Amino acid sequence: MRETEVAIVGGGMVGMTLAIALRRAGIDVAVIDRATPEQVLAPEYDGRASAIAYASVRLLEATGIWAEVAETQPILDIRVSDGDSLLFLHYDHRAMGGAPLGQMVENRHLRLAQARAAAREQVAFVAGSLATLRRGPGAVEIGLKGGGAVHARLAVGADGARSTVRDLAGIGTAGWAYDQTGIVLTVRHERPHGGVAHERFLPAGPFAILPLAGNRSSLVWTERSDLAAAVLELPEGRFRQELAARFGDFLGKLTPLGPRWSYPLGLHQADRYVGDRLALIGDAAHRMHPIAGQGLNLGLRDAAALAEVIVDAARLGLDIGGAQALERYQRWRRFDSIALLAVTDVLNRLFSNSLPPVRLARDAGLAIVNRMPPLKRILVGHARGTAGKLPRLLAGEAL
Ligand SMILES: Cc1cc2nc3c(=O)[nH]c(=O)nc-3n(C[C@H](O)[C@H](O)[C@H](O)COP(=O)(O)OP(=O)(O)OC[C@H]3O[C@@H](n4cnc5c(N)ncnc54)[C@H](O)[C@@H]3O)c2cc1C
Repeated sequence: MRETEVAIVGGGMVGMTLAIALRRAGIDVAVIDRATPEQVLAPEYDGRASAIAYASVRLLEATGIWAEVAETQPILDIRVSDGDSLLFLHYDHRAMGGAPLGQMVENRHLRLAQARAAAREQVAFVAGSLATLRRGPGAVEIGLKGGGAVHARLAVGADGARSTVRDLAGIGTAGWAYDQTGIVLTVRHERPHGGVAHERFLPAGPFAILPLAGNRSSLVWTERSDLAAAVLELPEGRFRQELAARFGDFLGKLTPLGPRWSYPLGLHQADRYVGDRLALIGDAAHRMHPIAGQGLNLGLRDAAALAEVIVDAARLGLDIGGAQALERYQRWRRFDSIALLAVTDVLNRLFSNSLPPVRLARDAGLAIVNRMPPLKRILVGHARGTAGKLPRLLAGEAL
């Protein structure tokens, strides 16, 4: 039996960030994951790239993760357009204070940077799948499939959208699956992207072109789930034609690099983020449509807030897994997530709709927002993650 202060089930990008932040503040942690570090770092594990908001970059800097990221691409402008309509919304970083709107990072690079930072901070790893969760007055015991257990004062469920921690704790969710699949791939193009991210709203859903280092972009092509399966199977020539029809020729000739990936899309919110000696973070607590590139950013905010709550409780000599500390975490994070989940859902429904009156209204909306610099600045504040009460790590401060 291993003893620790905080047992984090799930060493994804959110769980790892929490583990590293806590270790740097001198708290003992163990990360339990059914995937081994070798599997997670293999090229076939995750083909996505993430738009990392400005505040999340500060958190990754403050935890020593950012310095290990091999390659990043600043997002300088964002252009939102509705199908072939000429009306669009344009965010230019120069009109918004000059700093990039965010950074694009391939998940494989972020995962490797986290593995390096975790090794440096001596984060303990336990390979195994969660099987049981037993909570007593002063401790929680996490039992693993095939034997073995971890004993802690607090268990954190960072085990993703289909969280076993959440199920074993009897915490329900409200939400639904979208009849949409995100097809993800990386392309090389002839001309430079200039750091511009494009979000195009097509009838099946948003089509995002996200700049990566060099003349490359990461695409998130949302398709109806029944059609997505066929698109994924298309022979190379036909696939390129379909891709070009959506992407256009503004960056010259396109060359897909590597495989096509697919991710089913859905939305949920956990009924509670905390229970006895237990807290949920990341996709275990909330899952949303990738339309606004905010799921990971929201998870990183959870990690920063929970780290702060735990460290503050420890400094005051309070129980780090006690109800007082956990309630503070829940109050801080739950409302923020509900608001963002609602926004991403409305955007997806509004823009995945080809009824002429709906199109007209949303195009007018885009054009109006585009001409209102103060409103644009507020929206950018949210996208940069700098709005609201920020945990210390997101403000770039030490814990
Ligand atoms: C197409 C797409 C594009 C996206 N783009 C962006 C973007 O640009 N910006 C952004 O902010 N977000 C984006 N997101 C969202 C983001 O990827 C997720 O919110 C984020 O990866 C969630 O991380 P997590 O660590 O919470 O969960 P996960 O990455 O799911 O990690 C969970 C971990 O728990 C482990 N685990 C699960 N069950 C068990 C168990 N029973 N026992 C032990 N271990 C277990 C798993 O092995 C895994 O390592 C995107 C999502 C999609 C689908």
